[in-house]
Amino acid sequence: MIDQFKRSIHYLRLSVTDLCNLKCQYCMPEGGVDKKAHQDILRIEDYLRLVEEMTSLGVDKVRLTGGEPLVRKGIVDLVEGIAKLEGIKDLAITTNGVLLKKYAEELKNAGLTRVNVSIDTLDPDKYREITRGGNIEDVLGGIEEARRVGLLPIKLNVVLINGFNTDEVEDFIRLADEDMDVRFIELMPIGQVANWSKDKFISNEKLLEKHRDWFVMEDGEQYGPAKYYQKKDGKGRVGFINPISNHFCSTCNRVRMTADGKLKLCLHTNEEYDLKPLLEEDSDTIRKTLQEYIAKKPERHHMNDQEFQPIVRDMNRIGG
Ligand code: SAM
Ligand code: SF4
Repeated sequence: MIDQFKRSIHYLRLSVTDLCNLKCQYCMPEGGVDKKAHQDILRIEDYLRLVEEMTSLGVDKVRLTGGEPLVRKGIVDLVEGIAKLEGIKDLAITTNGVLLKKYAEELKNAGLTRVNVSIDTLDPDKYREITRGGNIEDVLGGIEEARRVGLLPIKLNVVLINGFNTDEVEDFIRLADEDMDVRFIELMPIGQVANWSKDKFISNEKLLEKHRDWFVMEDGEQYGPAKYYQKKDGKGRVGFINPISNHFCSTCNRVRMTADGKLKLCLHTNEEYDLKPLLEEDSDTIRKTLQEYIAKKPERHHMNDQEFQPIVRDMNRIGG
């Protein structure tokens, strides 16, 4: 699928639930979220139908996210169904890792290619604080299990919050190895964070500048949102995801589908298209409509512009 700015759209991020077993301060409201009625969220078979139509239009890379994808009933069946679709080259999950120890092997057997695990601190108390109650041991056990079953490479996602975890950057860099990339993600002013004080945000450029002598060079693979650097000790790579300071819109190849069946063409706009009515239609109509919607993908985000409207959906309801 080619959009109006000649970008090839072949990457789908699929949010499979708004619910989560953690309540990270930057993502989820303190009181949690209400469970939606069954008819308001896509069923596993609905996802499979829509993803199948998308693969026929060229989508070859799918990432499952949420909320927490591993709390979604039927997640292993969904992975298995998507993995079997013709044309799928890469099928990954982004998870907080809490249930990974339990599911890693089943997911691997179902056809999952790899996992991204989110962990913002290595300190058990700080972890409990930022996730409002999480136990870091669960996540560390999950990462170990993902390694054991070969869901590789693992990508550790670390959201940087100035004054909270900036003192742990080098500990995280040390963790990167042959099987595990570490990626620092800039905090985005979305949902819960829309009104956070500016001093919580730190640009990845600043971070890289400060820790530059850990790295030898940029890695060859520089497409997409992360810029990768090789570590000097030769053990692994570190990525910097800069959605704010250095946006990558001109090469953006992705669209998102939310758990309530909305197609989002850009993370940073409030515009969405309801896909649920399409489930009543035949394949030709679904494909034609998807192509019409995707052609409207905006050229770029406007987060740095004066008139930018904050994104109202919390991240748990979009899928990062
Ligand atoms: N529950 C899973 C997890 O935590 O990996 C998947 C969903 S979570 C919304 C996906 C990613 O979005 C996580 O890496 C999380 O840290 C990131 N995220 C959430 N809110 C964010 C924000 N305001 N800015 C930057 N990243 C954010
Ligand atoms: Fe849950 Fe992931 Fe959001 Fe944390 S970042 S509250 S784990 S959905």
